[in-house]
Amino acid sequence: MKVLITENLRIDLEKELWECRHCDAALVSARDNYKRGLLVYDRDPREIHKPLLDPSKYKLTYSPDPQWCRILEYYCPQCGSMIETEYLPPGHPPVRDIDLDIDALKAQWRSRDEVLEAPVGTDPPRRLHDHDHAHGHGHDHGARK
Ligand SMILES: [Zn+2]
Repeated sequence: MKVLITENLRIDLEKELWECRHCDAALVSARDNYKRGLLVYDRDPREIHKPLLDPSKYKLTYSPDPQWCRILEYYCPQCGSMIETEYLPPGHPPVRDIDLDIDALKAQWRSRDEVLEAPVGTDPPRRLHDHDHAHGHGHDHGARK
């Protein structure tokens, strides 16, 4: 059973491994930070957020100061897909932004069918006329005047 976690990552529950959803590469233990299984590109933020003012004339240019901000880009080591990005102070370790209880995840998915692709583009069910109108909330549901 593989469980979709993000648009780029899933977990193989039997092997307990993070996997790239684009190329199926096994990355690192599902009990570890998935970023340890990825390539990291430590970007100068001025490359991404270009100065809006001439840096030769102004100290502050609306571009992030690389002494205070780095942009880390994470890539799959097999297919090169960008998996995640984050803004951090220089020297800060990668944030562990997903920390799942793998044993609970296994128990949760034991009785479920595997989902191979997340449903995309479905609107939530329309509930305009399901609720009680007796409380007089004041809108007309598009009634013509
Ligand atoms: Zn990949």
